[in-house]
Amino acid sequence: MEALFAYAIMTFLVWIFAHYLYRVRSTKFIKSFLDSQNSMMLLASSNKVKILNKNGLELLGFNSLKEFLDEKTCLLNSFIVEEECLDKHTYGKRWIEAIEKTKYQSAKVKIKSKKDGLFYYYRIKLSKLEGRNEYILIFTDVSDFERSKNELKNCAENDPLTKIYNRTKVNHLFESIFVNAKKYNQHFSVILFDIDHFKMINDTHGHNVGDKVLFELARLTQSLFRSSDILARWGGEEFILILKDTTGKQASMLANRVRVAIDKYNFTGVGNLTCSFGVTQYQLDERKIELLERVDEALYEAKENGRNRVVIK
Ligand code: GH3
Ligand code: MG
Ligand code: MG
Repeated sequence: MEALFAYAIMTFLVWIFAHYLYRVRSTKFIKSFLDSQNSMMLLASSNKVKILNKNGLELLGFNSLKEFLDEKTCLLNSFIVEEECLDKHTYGKRWIEAIEKTKYQSAKVKIKSKKDGLFYYYRIKLSKLEGRNEYILIFTDVSDFERSKNELKNCAENDPLTKIYNRTKVNHLFESIFVNAKKYNQHFSVILFDIDHFKMINDTHGHNVGDKVLFELARLTQSLFRSSDILARWGGEEFILILKDTTGKQASMLANRVRVAIDKYNFTGVGNLTCSFGVTQYQLDERKIELLERVDEALYEAKENGRNRVVIK
């Protein structure tokens, strides 16, 4: 009986040893394989990186895997916060498991290379290893694609002359603003303003000077508002401001501040000019078209009543 027990223990220990050897050997094999690849790759458990290949070490500025592991670097801290990119706030420490649960088991990250100081975008693809509770993460460089995408997005959303948002972007933003305002009973206000007698400015000083005026006016207005407020070129010489958590009365006071600032400003090649303002507050359950019609009427009244003034409706 005792002999049998000893035999069982021995078998168990041999099995454990064999298993250990197998793991060590397969880990060595995985490391060699990862190092031979041209892209950044790593082996990780659900929350800890175990092997970072040579390419990854170079990118993150480490001389050896030992140095990387000794520093207990949290890889998440290397991911730069940017819209649509994964960072330390997206899923928290168990980010690898979280990626596994996503539809395509992939995520996009932005990293600043220690090698050349440039920013790169990578698409991480995840693959779980059979028989080991570990994952291989492959980082594919998608920087060229992301840069072209960002350029196109920039062109589609910004006005090339004033460098502020265009009407298309504002219409997109309006969608979520209206949804949130309705859902959480939030208030917001809109200011629509237009340069007075701009045609005359163009006719007198030329179109190029007119363009400069538009640019300077956008900069001046932008400097008077919070970064959370939205300023856009609504069309020609007409601008729109969307002010979150702001009542019509507050917006009206702000519009007056802008009006005075513009009135006092010395525009290049033109000197003084004025603008007329329409202001309105979002009313619960109304549609975008109703709000825009009301603010347009307010602006029209400001023009009709003599210009260089603010009308609230
Ligand atoms: P009001 O006080 O009634 O607004 O008169 P206004 O002359 O400003 O308005 P009107 O609509 O008659 O003219 C607008 C002018 O704005 C005509 C158009 O050529 C000019 N404009 C529109 N977009 C641009 C632009 O991008 N650059 C320049 N320089 N001018 C522009
Ligand atoms: Mg005008
Ligand atoms: Mg106009």
